[in-house]
Amino acid sequence: MDSLPGSWRVQARRISRRLIWRARGERFDCPACNSRALIDLDILPQRNRSVAFVCACETCGMVFANPQPSQESLDAFYSPEGTWRGADSDAGVHATKGTEGTWFRTFDAIRGDLRLEAPPAGARALDFGCGGGKLLDELQAFGWDTWGIEPAKDTAFRRHHRLESVPAVPTFDLIAAHHVLEHVPHPLDLLRQFAAASQPTGFLSVSVPRFDTLPVHRDYKYVLNGRAHIVAYTWPCLRALLAMAGWIPVQAPPDVAAAKADPHASRRLRVLAKRSASPDTVPAPAAAAFAATRDYYRQGDARPWLARAGFLRLSARRQHMARRRALAAAKIGRVQSDARA
Ligand SMILES: [Zn+2]
Repeated sequence: MDSLPGSWRVQARRISRRLIWRARGERFDCPACNSRALIDLDILPQRNRSVAFVCACETCGMVFANPQPSQESLDAFYSPEGTWRGADSDAGVHATKGTEGTWFRTFDAIRGDLRLEAPPAGARALDFGCGGGKLLDELQAFGWDTWGIEPAKDTAFRRHHRLESVPAVPTFDLIAAHHVLEHVPHPLDLLRQFAAASQPTGFLSVSVPRFDTLPVHRDYKYVLNGRAHIVAYTWPCLRALLAMAGWIPVQAPPDVAAAKADPHASRRLRVLAKRSASPDTVPAPAAAAFAATRDYYRQGDARPWLARAGFLRLSARRQHMARRRALAAAKIGRVQSDARA
């Protein structure tokens, strides 16, 4: 048995998971760092499963829907025939508006090392999850050699190079992963792949929905819904995962208090990072995620009383049983109406 960092909440979860109820397929380790020190933050009602949990990792701070969708259902979701194809994955994300855009401004901090609008000759950029290729279009106009990875559609590759996977050798001067990391079941693996594919002087631009500002923007479904957005990030968590993968953020994003000035911008966490000499361990307990959930419910808490009182597993079991009874009643109703027909 590994030694568990963190709190009594980790132990409480282990015991109540054993004694009270667990969701089918629930995982017992963190999808990012594989730590088993998990806590329950909330209940996540699911469309096709009865009830899932929002869990957080006491080692890296990752927040995730538990259970996670199976790899088969994720593959189907993002396949060319899947649901994701219809989504406008470029919307907002890649509306960079040339040198006027807020994304461009994140590069101000590194102008001594890299000028986005005037890259060195032969500089290569990769957009992982490039959608229709809007960001690559802009980078190409600045003079970048542009590469993309996108399983759901082909349109970007009329103008840009296509890759099926991230190369394992230093190739790129800039890697963008905008609104990708919330969709993937193994985000730390992906950040490590980006580090391997980056030149030693390369940069990584990451944008994800932001969990620790949940009480400010209040858009829970955007941050985590268990279907498309299956993992979620606080700033301490993203910083920790970047460090573990060999990246150092160039600048910290606004803290939760500063985020109140612009609730819309507070919905996302946008970070520019540079390669570090070696991976590092920065502990990131689940405190920021716990505080975000607590403060989110401070206003107008409409949860069932058991959940409000902190008895998440009891509440989830009740919801699960109620749903099973409703399904059974619907089945009996169908059989009776078939018999009458
Ligand atoms: Zn973790």
